[in-house]
Amino acid sequence: MSNNCLFCRIAAGEIPADTLYNDDDVMAFWDICPQAPKHFLVIPKQHISGPSALTEADENIIGKVLRIGAELAKTNGAEHFRFVVNNGEEAGQTVFHFHLHVLGGRKMTWPPG
Ligand code: AMP
Ligand code: ZN
Repeated sequence: MSNNCLFCRIAAGEIPADTLYNDDDVMAFWDICPQAPKHFLVIPKQHISGPSALTEADENIIGKVLRIGAELAKTNGAEHFRFVVNNGEEAGQTVFHFHLHVLGGRKMTWPPG
């Protein structure tokens, strides 16, 4: 847990979030600035700064993040959805705690911006 990490603080319950899912090691909450009618984030509770920081030890938890993201998309009215994970400032990462964006509820365009 990093005190100056926003998502660690949300995971610890110190900062409130509009939560869809919460267990011992994964949490999902609606994005505060949605980019689609359905837009939520799924995070591992342990601090991982982003995809570049992943190690072999993280494979199970990241697999779970993906599975929970897909299940929640289905149960929250986004049968067709897009997963996005930004890595690094130029890619659009603003919070340096691994998070899976799940976007749905509208037709997506390609390529992404
Ligand atoms: P990224 O730009 O990929 O790092 O994504 C960070 C996401 O976190 C953005 O989509 C923000 O809108 C979202 N966000 C920032 N603060 C909060 C918060 N307190 N609760 C929910 N979502 C947040
Ligand atoms: Zn963190």
